[in-house]
Amino acid sequence: MSTVNQGNVSMRIAIAGFLHESNTFASQVTGMAQFRVHSGEKLLQHYAETFHEIAGFIAGAGEYDFEPLPLVAAEATPSGTVTAAAYEEITGGIIRALKANPGMDGVLLALHGAMVSESYPEADAETVRRVREAIGPDCPLVVTHDYHANIPASLVDRADALVVYQTNPHVDQRERGLRAAGIAARTSRGQVRPVSALAKPELVLNIYFHNTSRPPMAPLMAAARALEEQPGILACSVAAGYQYADVPAMGPSIVVVTDGDPERARQEAERLGRRMWDRREQLIVRIPAPAAAVTQARAASSCPVTLLDFGDNIGGGSAGDSTFILEQLLAQEADGWVVTLWDPEAAGRCAEAGIGASVRLDAGGKTDSMHGPTLTVAGTVRTLHDGSYEETERRHGGGRFFDQGLTAVVAVGREEQGNGGLLVLNSNRSSPNSIHQITCCGIQPHQQKILVAKGAVAPRAAYEPVSAQLIEVDSGGATAIHRGPQEYVRARPGLYEWNR
Ligand SMILES: [Zn+2]
Repeated sequence: MSTVNQGNVSMRIAIAGFLHESNTFASQVTGMAQFRVHSGEKLLQHYAETFHEIAGFIAGAGEYDFEPLPLVAAEATPSGTVTAAAYEEITGGIIRALKANPGMDGVLLALHGAMVSESYPEADAETVRRVREAIGPDCPLVVTHDYHANIPASLVDRADALVVYQTNPHVDQRERGLRAAGIAARTSRGQVRPVSALAKPELVLNIYFHNTSRPPMAPLMAAARALEEQPGILACSVAAGYQYADVPAMGPSIVVVTDGDPERARQEAERLGRRMWDRREQLIVRIPAPAAAVTQARAASSCPVTLLDFGDNIGGGSAGDSTFILEQLLAQEADGWVVTLWDPEAAGRCAEAGIGASVRLDAGGKTDSMHGPTLTVAGTVRTLHDGSYEETERRHGGGRFFDQGLTAVVAVGREEQGNGGLLVLNSNRSSPNSIHQITCCGIQPHQQKILVAKGAVAPRAAYEPVSAQLIEVDSGGATAIHRGPQEYVRARPGLYEWNR
C-alpha cells in the first residue's frame, strides 16, 4: 500500500545513490577516500547532464511532474571490499537526510547491486533495509541496479520496484533511471501498484558472456525488452551478476515487476530464468592466454587490434597494473603497441626526469602478487600530461569528466621508427571506458598496431569504433575468468560451471 498523492500538491521524491562494485578477491579494501560524494544541489549539478541513472531520476522530475529532493550520492571505481567505516558513513548520511525530510512522496535509490562491505556481504540489501525502516512501509521506494548486480530476495521484497540496466557496455543507464522515476511517481499517485518476482538460475554466468549485443545474452535481453512493452509490465530486468563478489546471491537474476499481478510476475521471471538455464552448456569459456593472444595480434592483417585484458579488468575491481600482456609484447618483440598501467611512482619518476629524458623504470605489478612481475623497462619520456579528459559520447558508466592524474607516455624500444611501443603510466586507477584516456596523451589509435584495454566488456563501446579486431585474453589477476568453487566461501555451492 502506498500513500496516494492526487497531484494538487507538489510531489516530492528524494534522490540518493551509493554505488560500488566490490571485488572480494582484490587485495585492498575500499575506504572513504576512494568515494566521490555529492550532496544537495551539487548532486543535481554533477549528474544532470550525464548519461547516469541519476540523470534519469532528475529528468524524471520534469517528465512525471515531481520535485526532486537531492540527498546524497556516493560512487567509487570498482575495487576491494568496502570498509565498515565507509559503509556506515555513507549509509548514515543517506538515512539522516531521509529523516530530516519527513513526508516525502517517494524515494529513488541508485545502488550498484554488487557492493560488499566488511560487515554486510550483501550490502545493498542492508542499505534498502535501512532506507525502508527510515521511510516506513507506505512510502514508494524504487531502486536501480547495475547489470552486474547479485540480487538477493530480501532486497526485492523490501523495494517497491527494482530496475536494472539492460545493456553491457552500460549505455542505457539514463533511460533506466527515467523508468524508475516513472514507476515511483505513478506509484505515489496510486496509478500503479508494483509487485515483483525474482528468479535465480543456478549457474555462474561468466563475465565473458555478459555482452548484451551478442549471444547468448542478446536474445534474452530482447525478450526482456519485449516483455516490458506489454501492458501491465512495469519493468523486466536480467542482471548477469558479478562473479568476483563472493556472496550468497552471486550469479544471474531475473526481476519482473508487474502492476498488481504477483502470479504473472512469478511466471515471467521463471520463464526467462529457465531460458537462461537451458543455455547453460553454451556458457563455457575458451579464449587465448596472453602469449597466444599476442601472437595472434601480431599476425593480424588489419590494425589496430585491441587486446582485452580480462584478468586486469579495472572496471571489475582489478589492480590496473598487471604486466602479463606487456611481458609477452616485450618477449615477442611486438611493435606499435600501447599499454596503460596504473603506476603513480613510475609516472612521477618520468615527470622528474622530464620530456626527452632516457629512463629505466620498474613498472607495474606493484599492487600484489596476482598481477604479474614488476618489469624493468628502458625508454624515453615522450610526453607528460595532467591526465584529465572529457567524453561527450555515450560510453559505459555514463561519465563525462575523467581524471587519470599525472600521466607519462614512455616510448619503449623505439630507437628506430616502427619498433617498440608506448607505455602510458597514470596515477589514478582508471577503467578504459573512453578512448580519450589515450588520445588525451597524443596517441592516435589508428596509427597503432596493438592496443591493450584493461577490461572485459566495458571498453568495447570505446574501442570497437577504433579497432579492426578485438581479442579477449584469458589473463591472470583479481578478475581472472577462471576461478574454481574452492576459492569461494559464501557463494551457493553447486552452481553450474562449477559442478559440470
Ligand atoms: Zn556493471
